[in-house]
Amino acid sequence: MAREYNISKTACLCRSCQKHLEPGSELVATVREAGEELQREDFCLDCWSARPQQADHGLLGSWHSRVPASTEKKKLLVDDELLVNLFQRLEHPDTAAKANFRFVLALILMRKKLLVYDRTEAMEGQETWVMHLRGDDTPV
Ligand SMILES: [Zn+2]
Repeated sequence: MAREYNISKTACLCRSCQKHLEPGSELVATVREAGEELQREDFCLDCWSARPQQADHGLLGSWHSRVPASTEKKKLLVDDELLVNLFQRLEHPDTAAKANFRFVLALILMRKKLLVYDRTEAMEGQETWVMHLRGDDTPV
């Protein structure tokens, strides 16, 4: 079962107030589950701090970012530090979608050689990959 995960590129618009996000301005980027896809939504700082604080179950992760200046457009959308951060924050996924997303993150991190595969163990009747992050021996 291979599912494609696409994280769409920022449209430089606040999802909430539709304000154009100027290059260099701060924003909060979020990734949420939308059916079979992952959807990226950006918010200006005002809207993000004003949004309701109730639990948002579709939300997989959020991070502060900055709208790239036009000369930086070729930079990676998601940097390595963010991927590791999301991976660590999803250590105890409470939904299948988050668990799937974490698995995808693990594959990406392995490809980037930031995460190293050690062995497979049977845990609670499930095959579980034991790995460690590069530069940190703590098993994950
Ligand atoms: Zn806004």
